[in-house]
Amino acid sequence: MTPRKLDFSDHRRELGANRYIYAVVSRRAGGLSIGVNLNPDKVCNFACPYCQVDRTIPGGPARIDLAELDAELRHLLGLVASGQLWETAPFDTAAPEHRRVVDIAFAGDGEPTSPPEFPQAAALVRAVRDELAPGVPLRLLTNATLVHRGSVRAALAEFDDLWCKLDAGTDAWFHRVDGTRFPFNRIIRNLRELAAERAIVIQAMFCSLGEDRPGVEEIEAWTGRLRHIARQGTIAEVQVYTVARRPADSAAGALSPEELEGIAAAARTAGLNARAV
Ligand code: SF4
Repeated sequence: MTPRKLDFSDHRRELGANRYIYAVVSRRAGGLSIGVNLNPDKVCNFACPYCQVDRTIPGGPARIDLAELDAELRHLLGLVASGQLWETAPFDTAAPEHRRVVDIAFAGDGEPTSPPEFPQAAALVRAVRDELAPGVPLRLLTNATLVHRGSVRAALAEFDDLWCKLDAGTDAWFHRVDGTRFPFNRIIRNLRELAAERAIVIQAMFCSLGEDRPGVEEIEAWTGRLRHIARQGTIAEVQVYTVARRPADSAAGALSPEELEGIAAAARTAGLNARAV
């Protein structure tokens, strides 16, 4: 799912020949984030106006070649282990303290749980992580639309962290900011059920859309949704962020740091660990 959400300031996507594995040096995360893109076709079940995936350039085939995914991940981890990665542009400019892998995250050019190969890919990446990078957290960034499906739900056990999108409090803003007719209540129910099983992180994108921006009522409704989810489960953290790079739709604009901080503060009044990132 989602554009690269682990880093909003230093976006360096490399290993250009790869189909599934990419890497981002992230100052904020303090190192190298390895990304797993299970959506090489760039198809997503959302159409967020703030999306940073460039769909004017066509994607590749949808089918996931698991052997190639395995090979790409092993190759990258090998480059890290040998130190060769840090001799290659643009990674050679990374500060010494950032020359370490901080996570492996399923976060590609669409919703990662959509492809039928998702369960096998999750198990494969988990096994490679256990073998070559033990201790590095394995994360899933998801819009939570499909986590009620049995095969997807079972595969979530492979991940250490679930980072779930919740960009709105009302149906109306949800449909606009995520560009979908998907039922909002289904997402809320999915998040509530997930949080009841295990702690989740909420990632919330707030932005302006043309002349409109999320107002007090929207933020109150969003906070109410968070309360509802947390009442029966655990939200480990709420990350509030805004548009940082050129979005798919130029109508999507950034909120100010003060606005973001106000939204995070609203979540904190609900007793949640929330911060603007
Ligand atoms: S969920 Fe939204 S932001 Fe993420 S890839 Fe799909 S359209 Fe883009």
